[in-house]
Amino acid sequence: MNSELSPRVTRWRGNLLRLNSAQDARIESDQVIEVDEQTGSIRLIRPPQPGEKVEHDHRGRLIAPGFIDTHVHFPQLDVIGSPAEGLLPWLEQHTFPTETLFCDPGHAKAVADVFIDELLRHGVTTAAVYCTSHPASVEAFMQASLARDLAMIAGKVLQDRHSPPGLHDDTEQSLRDTEALIGRWHGKARLHYAITPRFAPTSTERQLAGAGEIARAFPDVFVQSHVAENRQEIDWVRSLFPGDRSYLAVYERFGLVRPRSIWGHCIYLDDRDRALLKDHDALAAVCPTSNLFLGSGLFNFSEAAHRWTLASDIGGGSSFSPFRSMMAAYEIARLGGHYLSPSTLWWHASAGSAAALGLDHRLGSIQAGNDADFIVIDPATKPLLARRWAAAASDQARLFALIVLGDDRTIRHTVVRGRIAPLSDQAASSSSLSPR
Ligand SMILES: [Zn+2]
Repeated sequence: MNSELSPRVTRWRGNLLRLNSAQDARIESDQVIEVDEQTGSIRLIRPPQPGEKVEHDHRGRLIAPGFIDTHVHFPQLDVIGSPAEGLLPWLEQHTFPTETLFCDPGHAKAVADVFIDELLRHGVTTAAVYCTSHPASVEAFMQASLARDLAMIAGKVLQDRHSPPGLHDDTEQSLRDTEALIGRWHGKARLHYAITPRFAPTSTERQLAGAGEIARAFPDVFVQSHVAENRQEIDWVRSLFPGDRSYLAVYERFGLVRPRSIWGHCIYLDDRDRALLKDHDALAAVCPTSNLFLGSGLFNFSEAAHRWTLASDIGGGSSFSPFRSMMAAYEIARLGGHYLSPSTLWWHASAGSAAALGLDHRLGSIQAGNDADFIVIDPATKPLLARRWAAAASDQARLFALIVLGDDRTIRHTVVRGRIAPLSDQAASSSSLSPR
């Protein structure tokens, strides 16, 4: 064989999770994934040959698409688990003071590395990420993502009112910064920019209008913000924007509800709001652990005719693990009398999210031509999970056992463009445990 013509490949062997639709997830036993080492994409998937030896033999384990987290705040890494009486006090007491530290590029870089480690440790290979209002926080996150060759979506938070000193934006400068960051980062390697007004109460009409103008000028850039998370917040929006029909309608007025717009929470929507999301091909990022932690409310899964995806919302969310988000979504749906099947839950945590983001030609499923971003799941890493897995009578039962019993230990490897993603803290962690 002519080695110059045949690409160098790395082969991964294991059971393969196929997510064909929200209703159809199945496990194909014992397959080989060939990854083109040069492009980092999947070349082909085939059954193993007799006696074949592969570079990464994971027989008995499950190879699944990397998870996608569609709403998460990297600067809030250090406010996870901060108790407060609801969203607005939580922002004031914990989040805003922590975010002011990100004017320091050194601090931003250090936190970005730990944050990305946590995503990868939990099997998340792509995320839609809020930075802070400081351009330095975007630089730090994008640089850290670029260094690890990750497909990430991120943006500078816009907040030019009702914000403490240290986070408060200058309106015109914030818009110039946004355009400059788009020019610098959007489309570079695997990075995407998201225009990121924090939420309507912390932006003036001029800032929202400017964000809308930029969104029109750059239709392939993402937009992300929060909407209808908490009743107190909604009352505040009503008092600030008395002429608008609803909270979501404020964003619509400024041209921000559009394809590639990602709306965090979407708990208190009415039928017209839901139709608005659907008609504009916008998506909801549902954050179930955050909604429970902050007591914001329960997302209405039965009425969600629009696209929806699952997200952690760290630090309002209580876990980086998509298993926890799927579990909380399941429980919230049950409280509303609705049933989310294991297929549906997995779909909205990976393949369905890639489709909703318009990135499914590269991400979200293990198929020839896609980027080789996947995870190796090992049910044997927890005794009870191993027992439950072995006894499960169907793929649905296996997938649900992972949701209920899986955690970061269950993610044996996170693979980015065909290579096991190293964690920046791995070298440090063994030496940082000082004897007591
Ligand atoms: Zn959020």
